[in-house]
Amino acid sequence: MKKKITILLPAYNEEACFDFLRECMDQVLKDNPAYEWEFLFVNDGSTDGTLDKMMALYHADPQHWSYIDLSRNYGKEVAMMAGFDYAKGDAVIIMDADMQHPVSAIPEMLKWWEEGYDDVFAQRRSSRESWLKKKTSQWYYSMLQNLTRVPIQKNTGDFRLLDRTCIEALRKMRESERNTKGLYSWIGFKKKGIYYDQLERQQGTSKWKFFQLVNLAINGMTSYTVAPLRIAMYMGIGVSFVAFVYLLYILIKTLLYGDPVAGYPTLMVTILFLGGVQLLTIGVLGEYLGRIFNETKNRPGYFVRRYNDAKV
Ligand code: UDP
Ligand code: MG
Repeated sequence: MKKKITILLPAYNEEACFDFLRECMDQVLKDNPAYEWEFLFVNDGSTDGTLDKMMALYHADPQHWSYIDLSRNYGKEVAMMAGFDYAKGDAVIIMDADMQHPVSAIPEMLKWWEEGYDDVFAQRRSSRESWLKKKTSQWYYSMLQNLTRVPIQKNTGDFRLLDRTCIEALRKMRESERNTKGLYSWIGFKKKGIYYDQLERQQGTSKWKFFQLVNLAINGMTSYTVAPLRIAMYMGIGVSFVAFVYLLYILIKTLLYGDPVAGYPTLMVTILFLGGVQLLTIGVLGEYLGRIFNETKNRPGYFVRRYNDAKV
């Protein structure tokens, strides 16, 4: 029996990309006849014609195409979780619906998978992103890596092949504030990196706004490590130590030379500095508290309106 491979395609307002996407999937079928293929869409609450396009493909060829229609826009991370729950393949390949990930990398992924690797992740060789976006992501990764023991794969997105064992592992991680990149690293298993050239987005626009990226970065860090709490503590220790030394200095100075009542600038600087440190550390605490709040609600990660025309 042929092994089944699922290509998981989360899509949010990607109506414009469907012709190209279809071409790409036809290419996959042609290039890899040794496998059975399932192309699984997750419609992440699109407001354009994305769902209609998905349904059209499903109706034309239900053997290969499937779709999950989520009840609203949950974000790509949750859309992928839904995909993991519904994927039927022995392995799952995650790809962006805008087809920035080249299907030409798939045969190589399959080759490594057959050799026993569980997680074949694709690393961007040349990214066409702006210099600033590239640099910031570089800094972010090295900072993150310094904060944790779990090895992090650089220049890696969600474009990867995951064996069924990895999918089952990921399905057990139901946290609501998801940082899937961190989860791939956390679950471990045998990993293999391959290289690919990221393609330019063909149609439509990128769904990431600047602040979303900042939020993603903060989420990534706080869901991955408690190091910021530790840093807050070190800051507290450092500031207390300096304050203590300064206290001794003032005490001795006052005892020896009396107190001429000066030092307004020193006072202001100290108060402002301490106020800043306190607010920052409260912010860090709040970040984790918020996470606990969201997790303890224990809500299901998403709701599905339809799976292949059937109500769920
Ligand atoms: N996406 C999604 N839900 C969202 C935002 C994006 O499912 O809320 C999908 C989107 O349709 C695409 C993939 O995630 O298939 C990557 O998004 P995008 O291309 O906008 O990101 P970029 O490539 O610019 O990082
Ligand atoms: Mg894209």
